[in-house]
Amino acid sequence: MTDYVIKGARILDGDTADLSIQDGVVVEVGRVAGHGAEVIDADGLVALPGLVDLHTHLREPGREDAETVESGSRAAALGGYTAVCAMANTSPVADTAGVVEQVWRLGREAGLVDVRPVGAVTVGLGGEHLAELGAMADSAARVRMFSDDGFCVSDPRLMRRALEYVKAFDGVIAQHAEEPRLTATSQMHEGVTSARLGMPGWPAVAEEAIIARDVLLAEHVGARLHVCHVSTAGGVEILRWAKRRLAGGPGAVTAEVTPHHLSLTDELVEGYDPVYKVNPPLRTEADVAALRAALVEGVIDAVATDHAPHAVQDKECEWAYARPGMLGLETALSIVIGALLDELGWDGVAERMSRAPARIAGLADHGHDPAPGRPANLTLVDPDAEWTVDPAALASRSRNTPYAGMRLRGRVVATFLYGRPTVLDGKAAR
Ligand SMILES: [Zn+2]
Repeated sequence: MTDYVIKGARILDGDTADLSIQDGVVVEVGRVAGHGAEVIDADGLVALPGLVDLHTHLREPGREDAETVESGSRAAALGGYTAVCAMANTSPVADTAGVVEQVWRLGREAGLVDVRPVGAVTVGLGGEHLAELGAMADSAARVRMFSDDGFCVSDPRLMRRALEYVKAFDGVIAQHAEEPRLTATSQMHEGVTSARLGMPGWPAVAEEAIIARDVLLAEHVGARLHVCHVSTAGGVEILRWAKRRLAGGPGAVTAEVTPHHLSLTDELVEGYDPVYKVNPPLRTEADVAALRAALVEGVIDAVATDHAPHAVQDKECEWAYARPGMLGLETALSIVIGALLDELGWDGVAERMSRAPARIAGLADHGHDPAPGRPANLTLVDPDAEWTVDPAALASRSRNTPYAGMRLRGRVVATFLYGRPTVLDGKAAR
């Protein structure tokens, strides 16, 4: 295995240093001579712990025309990620040890990012019968995060049982918070714009009611709840209350926000371009402001992409028939930097995009700042480089990015997974 010396990288907000990587591990940080190692000039680059995505749809098995484990892994590496949690809404659904092991194995074969399968909470995402959570936890994939994402576990009794079950192996239930009886037929955020367009709306209360209920359930059974893609100012208020309420007591709650909910609003729907159709929907400017403030404050713990590739025929069609979802892996870091670097600093970016998600997902090898003895899961970012998003140039098999043609700041120059480069000079190494 090749040894590497990364020369002169700035470590987060601190000083520059050299990093020596041997056998997949960071062995030295400081001034390193680097005899016999491959030297990477990192002058002007910032070294971050490899990013961790709590919410990725890789579409394999079942929709390999939209994405595969390999193409999604490559997109992730190019976005600076070293680990992704692969959501369970595949076909077949990842609700058995067999399917999660298949996804995990495909991830290992691709070798571009640590693929950690998320197990379904209920059989077939049907919301009626608990899936084999214990068998998935005991499988080779060692599943710790479970979610019916795409659907809400709306039955409170089932949600309670799931929370109780995963306590045995320090698992976490990641909830797609959407009370389905309040969003049936919805096409976009319920508000001024939906009224003007005459579109059925997805009201904020459908998210807020589920978050509040689940926080109380998590407290009641003393389990870990993670709230997926928070999108409303009201959801933020409930999480602020929840974190105070649960601090030091039984149960815990964490939450994520997507780059698109930090950067885009429902007014974009006015042109009826389905690239802006997503679930939960784009909200208002006031929601975006509340989400940004909550991420800086720490009420929202992490940024997660909700990377949702879709084939052209499923996305470039009439609004009502288009599938919800947007690509995210290759643009997330730039969106976060562009919106919030001044407030977060690089340390805050590392916390929200690497350390916190690694803790939530229970990934011991990820989310560590470069330090001797740590696995060399790292990314090098050029903070000043600008680039234009060209959908055709993305590594994802799909093209449904809402940022097409936009000029973004911050470019991933290199990513290392256990000491091997998956990205070099801004290009996929494999
Ligand atoms: Zn979701």
